[in-house]
Amino acid sequence: MNDQDQRPVYMDHAATTFMKPEVIAAMAPYFSQHFGNPSSLYRFARESRMGVDEARREVGAAVGASPEEIFFTAGGSEADNWAIKGVALANRKRGDHIVTSSIEHHAVLHTCEWLEKQGFSVTYLPVDEFGLLDPGDVRDAITDRTILVSVMAANNEIGTIQPVAELGRVAHDHGVLFHTDAVQAVGAVPIDVDRMGIDLLSLSGHKFYGPKGTGALYIRRGTRIENLIHGGGQERGRRAGTENVPGIVGLGRAIELATADIEAHNRRIAAMRDRLVRGILSAIPDARLNGHPTERLANNANFSFRYVEGESILLLLDAHGICASTGSACSSASLEPSHVLLAIGLPHEEAHGSLRLTLGDANTEEDVDYVLEVLPEVIGRLRQISPLTPAHARMPEAD
Ligand SMILES: *Cc1c(COP(=O)(O)O)cnc(C)c1O
Repeated sequence: MNDQDQRPVYMDHAATTFMKPEVIAAMAPYFSQHFGNPSSLYRFARESRMGVDEARREVGAAVGASPEEIFFTAGGSEADNWAIKGVALANRKRGDHIVTSSIEHHAVLHTCEWLEKQGFSVTYLPVDEFGLLDPGDVRDAITDRTILVSVMAANNEIGTIQPVAELGRVAHDHGVLFHTDAVQAVGAVPIDVDRMGIDLLSLSGHKFYGPKGTGALYIRRGTRIENLIHGGGQERGRRAGTENVPGIVGLGRAIELATADIEAHNRRIAAMRDRLVRGILSAIPDARLNGHPTERLANNANFSFRYVEGESILLLLDAHGICASTGSACSSASLEPSHVLLAIGLPHEEAHGSLRLTLGDANTEEDVDYVLEVLPEVIGRLRQISPLTPAHARMPEAD
């Protein structure tokens, strides 16, 4: 096979997605003819205003909220920062304690660590070997000083889906606000903020075939929250700055497409993912699938291969035109293994040899075949040269 002629096989959709042509088409007019500032009063700016309003309705509809409860941000990280810092600062008189999990995205973890430096206290709850949080642990962690529970809906590394509705119920039983980072869940899991007891929800456009640098925070009506970005009166005085109109329009169109038929989408993606998982586990010895066997995102496969380094796997896969990731994109530049893999109990060596493959809309059965052809060879080659590989796990040289 001539790898150079091969189009890249992109299996890193948890890091980011391509933009759907319909999304680009919806955005295009807002870069050119409809360039007006939505805050301007003349008729010319009406198109921009209407584009933003329409997107707000679409985002609200996608999560079961009303448009007035949707606030646009510059991505998932900003939404997480706003939710957690905003609630902490606005509710300081009531309490100073936050409950979260140890497998959150860094946008949540580092925000909580920053709040600890400001005098708040944070409980980082452990998860089980599959990455599931026990709602009973959340109940036990809540004190009369607790103001917020923040737990992600689905994990970006291992794909584990949390029992969000139960977590929401536990928080509300104790009069505590519940935030969920749903960046990986939107478009993959049906979401209803009322049914799930969610007070604040973060989402990000580029994880569901929308534009990068776009996102939103859902804030339940009546929630006490401070502003994060101060300035003009945009977003009903809650988030200053001239709106990213093309981005917001693209976010709206993307969320509408992503949530139109989640079940059919998941069925197709999960069938490919399951074939990938079966193929890899049967072809490669000393391999394990990380994350929950059933309560996981349809597109996520995360493996540990003993005796090898994740970075080396990525380099060799890249040489074959396969895009994948080890740990999370944000931590792959550091030498520390992923906090998520350590939290599910993997020893350091196994956490270092991890590979995440996340499928998406453009993947085909041929892509799965190709990865199944290349990956066993790559792992075999790396084990051949790894000093950690015991004799029984060395494969005979291919040629
Ligand atoms: C990607 C991601 C984020 C950050 O979103 P950005 O839009 O890239 O800032 C936050 N949380 C989770 C779970 C993610 O996967």
